[in-house]
Amino acid sequence: MRLSRYFLPVLKENPAEAQIVSHRYMLRAGMIKQQAAGIYSWLPLGFRVLKRIEQIVHEEQQRAGHIPLLMPTLQPADLWRESGRYDDYGQEMLRIRDRHDRDMLYGPTNEEMITDIFRSAVGSYKQLPLTLYHIQWKFRDEVRPRFGVMRGREFLMKDGYSFDLTREDALHAYNRHMVSYLRTYERMGLTAIPMRAASGPIGGDNTHEFLVLAQTGESEVFYDEAVTELTLGNRKVDYDNRDEVAAICDEFTAPYARTDETHDPSVFETVPEARRRVGRGIEVGQIFYFGTKYSDSMGATVVTPDGSRVPVEMGSHGIGVSRLLGAIIEASHDDKGIIWPEGVTPFHAGIVNLKQGDGATDSACEALYGALQARGLDPLYDDRDERAGAKFATMDLIGLPWRITVGPRGLAANKVELTCRRTGESEEMSPEAAVAKLAEIYEGR
Ligand code: ATP
Ligand code: MG
Repeated sequence: MRLSRYFLPVLKENPAEAQIVSHRYMLRAGMIKQQAAGIYSWLPLGFRVLKRIEQIVHEEQQRAGHIPLLMPTLQPADLWRESGRYDDYGQEMLRIRDRHDRDMLYGPTNEEMITDIFRSAVGSYKQLPLTLYHIQWKFRDEVRPRFGVMRGREFLMKDGYSFDLTREDALHAYNRHMVSYLRTYERMGLTAIPMRAASGPIGGDNTHEFLVLAQTGESEVFYDEAVTELTLGNRKVDYDNRDEVAAICDEFTAPYARTDETHDPSVFETVPEARRRVGRGIEVGQIFYFGTKYSDSMGATVVTPDGSRVPVEMGSHGIGVSRLLGAIIEASHDDKGIIWPEGVTPFHAGIVNLKQGDGATDSACEALYGALQARGLDPLYDDRDERAGAKFATMDLIGLPWRITVGPRGLAANKVELTCRRTGESEEMSPEAAVAKLAEIYEGR
C-alpha cells in the first residue's frame, strides 16, 4: 500500500476522551472511529489488524478440529424464552420488535441458537463429538462502555460450542479449547494466563478465563510468577490425544492464578513469597463446561450406544476478538506509539523515502516495494512529500515492527537502513539484504 493513496486519518493531539493508552493510540493512529457510545467503525488500519486476529483465531480453531459456521446477529426472543434467559438476561440485552410485532434481540451470545441448530440436525452419539464456532458481532448494552474496543457495546467475539455424549468427552473438548487458546494468544505475541473463574449468567462449574497482564486491566489477579514463564512454543499437539491435551492443561493451570472472584488467600500463601504477584489483567477469553443446562431445557438429546436418549453435554468457549486489539496494544507500546507483534501487524514493514521526488531514491523505494511484495509481504510505503521527522513519527505511532529508511546518502553506497520498532536498533545493509532479512523474519507467519 502507498500511503499517499491510503486512508490513514492520524490525529496529532491526544483525544481527551481516551483514558487508557490503547484507546488513545487506536484513535490517534486512525484505526477506529466512535459512532455512538461503545460502537465503532473500523477504519482501514484497524480493520486490517482485526482481520489478522480473526485469521489466527480461525486457523487455531480449525487446527483443533472445530468447525466454522455463521449465525445471525438478530435472534428471535422465543428461543431465549425456551431456556428461560429472555427474562433473566436483563438490561444488557438489546430488545427489538419487528414490523409484525415479534420480539427479537441482538444476540449477546449464541447458546440457544446453536442448541436449536444441533437439536434439529443431530440425534445420535455417532455424530459426536462436535464443536461448532463462529466469529460474529455481539451486542451487550453495557452500563459503562469504556476504554474504546476493550469494553464496547457492539464487539466481535469468537464463540464456540461443544457437543459431547459424556462428561469425560465434554471435558476433553474443554481442554482442547484451553490448549488452542494458549496457542492463539501466543501467536499474537501475548501471554494470556488461564485463571480459574467464577461462572456468570451462562452457568456451569468448570470455567477458566484467560487474562493478559496489564495495569489497566479491569480484573484484579493473584498469581505465581512461574505461570508467566510457561510457553507452548512450537510443540506439536495431537488434539485427539486426551492425555497429551490434559497434560498441557495441567502444566498451565498448576501454578496459582486466580481473579479476585475465585482468589483464596490461604492457598495463595503456599506460593513462595518471592513468586507471589498481585496485579491487574484484561480478560481476553473464557471457556465453560456447563453440562446439560441448555440441552435439558431445550430438548437437545442424542441416542446413546445402548439405545436410550440423553441430553447432550455442552460447553461454550469465547474469545474477545475486538478486545484483543486493545489488549495487545496495552501489552506492547512505548511513548511514541504502538509496537505490533509480527503475528498481527497491519503491514509487515514500512518504507520511508527520505527524499521524495529524487529520481534515484524514488526508484530504489519502488524496487523495494515490489521486491517485498514478490516475497509475499505487505509493505506500507510512505511516498508522501513530507519531512523525514513526520514520516518517522507516523511509522512509530502506527507501530509497524520493521522500517526501511531510504535516502540518497545511503544509496550512494547501496545501503538502506533497517530499523526494529521494538528495540530501536538500526542496521545498514543493501536493499536485497533487507528484503531477505524481512522474508526470513516472517517465514511461516
Ligand atoms: P466481562 O467480564 O469483561 O464483561 P464476560 O465474562 O461477560 O466479559 P464472556 O461472555 O466471557 O464475557 O465473553 C467472551 C469474551 O468476549 C470475553 O472474555 C471478552 O474478551 C469479550 N467481551 C465480553 N464483553 C465484551 C465487551 N463489552 N467488549 C469487548 N469484548 C467483550
Ligand atoms: Mg467472561
